[in-house]
Amino acid sequence: MEALKKRILAEGRPVGTDVIKVDSFLNHQIDAEFMYEIGEEFKKRFESKEITKILTIEASGIAIAVCTAKFFGYPPVVFAKKAAPNTMVEGFYSTGAQSFTKDAAAQIVIAKKFISKEDKILIIDDFLAYGEAAFALCNLAEQAKAQIVGVGAVIEKEFQGGGKRLRENGYFVKSLAIIEKIEDGKIVFKE
Ligand code: 5GP
Repeated sequence: MEALKKRILAEGRPVGTDVIKVDSFLNHQIDAEFMYEIGEEFKKRFESKEITKILTIEASGIAIAVCTAKFFGYPPVVFAKKAAPNTMVEGFYSTGAQSFTKDAAAQIVIAKKFISKEDKILIIDDFLAYGEAAFALCNLAEQAKAQIVGVGAVIEKEFQGGGKRLRENGYFVKSLAIIEKIEDGKIVFKE
């Protein structure tokens, strides 16, 4: 997605060789109009797919998933929570995931009532790095015996291998911008 690549180059800040900060439009301050462009682009990438729910993870995935839902006719958006709140008194699915940004292992949960075996799930997130978050979301959906029709990431950092692992495991993965490497403080996209 050319507009996204331009935006990353103009506003993205590499932190070392592993992390990119895009907090001016995606992760802290959100450019709502641009989120809808991202949602429309996801629709193009998953055009042929029938989707009954979009699954993401709090917090950064939520706005992206909601803006994407518009272009699929507003299927419900479910977001995994990073801890089971005490209001979640009914059953929930739970799995472990290593958090990239917090460098710690965490449990993520979704209430059982929001995903069922009839669901066709599109997983959406902001970044795809090592794939921990995406695999954890797949795991939750699979516990519910739902079908995963695709995994969409706004930004994939190819060099961290999560996209490759997901594809090797048979998931249909589409990323709107793929970064090959961060070198000498510069972001290099995959052609
Ligand atoms: P993974 O689980 O694939 O290793 O990492 C993906 C998750 O970590 C995403 O949910 C995202 O929030 C966070 N993340 C991974 N890499 C980056 C990055 O370079 N910048 C930011 N802001 N978040 C990242």
